Amino acid sequence: MSAPQYAVGLDLGGTAIKYGICSAKGEILHESQCPTQADQPAEVILNDLLTAAREAIDIAQKNGTAISAIGMGTPGSVNVESGTLMGNTPNFKLWKNVKIKPWLESRLNLPVWIDNDANMMAFGEARYGAGDGASNVACITLGTGIGGGIVIDNKLFRGSNYAGSELGHMSIRYDGIRCRCGGIGCWEMYASATAMIENYNRLKPNEKIESTITIFERYNAGEAEATQVIDEEIQIVSIGVANMLNIFNPQVIIIGGGVSEAGDWFVAAIAEKALPLAMASATANVRIVRARLGNKAGLLGAAAFALSRL
Ligand SMILES: [Zn+2]
Repeated sequence: MSAPQYAVGLDLGGTAIKYGICSAKGEILHESQCPTQADQPAEVILNDLLTAAREAIDIAQKNGTAISAIGMGTPGSVNVESGTLMGNTPNFKLWKNVKIKPWLESRLNLPVWIDNDANMMAFGEARYGAGDGASNVACITLGTGIGGGIVIDNKLFRGSNYAGSELGHMSIRYDGIRCRCGGIGCWEMYASATAMIENYNRLKPNEKIESTITIFERYNAGEAEATQVIDEEIQIVSIGVANMLNIFNPQVIIIGGGVSEAGDWFVAAIAEKALPLAMASATANVRIVRARLGNKAGLLGAAAFALSRL
């Protein structure tokens, strides 16, 4: 029998469920999305996921494509072996302690593999995106918080209780701000989009901007306050990147998330500052690059992960 070639990837986000038919080579044969009913009971969300998966399977069947597995990313901590969402997730009211894998498997009669959405994005980028298939990759997303995932020897690193690779909660200041996680001086308290916006609004208290896009626009126009915020951002992100280089010595560090959409120059500026901060042996041949798959990384990674577990 030939190797399984196609899986359905599902990416459960706060506003939409994205789904698609993905090949083992990272092609998307078909994709669609439906709204996430984030305030509804878990059963409602499960049924929407089931409908999405069935629709994709039907389309694949009509095209003579055999689906071998379903992969799915969800916000929150996931016990990957049992396919259970552990605890809860901030943007969903009742999406907590859900046994996702057995529920979907019994209805779809296909193997289902679930993981945290940041891990799925990292896996997608490592395999098919900016990682170009490298076996050791660290993916950092600069968004509302700082998230990401670590791929070691082609496998996602999750820690002993699926709580590993919380990159945003590495401390960069022992005397820093207290974080909601309980830690002090967490990276995301200083370098997330949220932190950038707070920093900017503190410098210009008479206006309340709401997006880092505004800061980058004003930076490009040469505004002093925006320049200060962006220069600090580059500095602070580079310290975290240097830590990652020293700890993991990856072949590729991928920087994604909304803030990275500022452009390749932004990632290049981070790389230029980070490389001299890390040990020379940890920086030889490393590539520090911008994420390439955008919002398709999650479903591609989910499909790839499901195929990798068959
Ligand atoms: Zn923290």
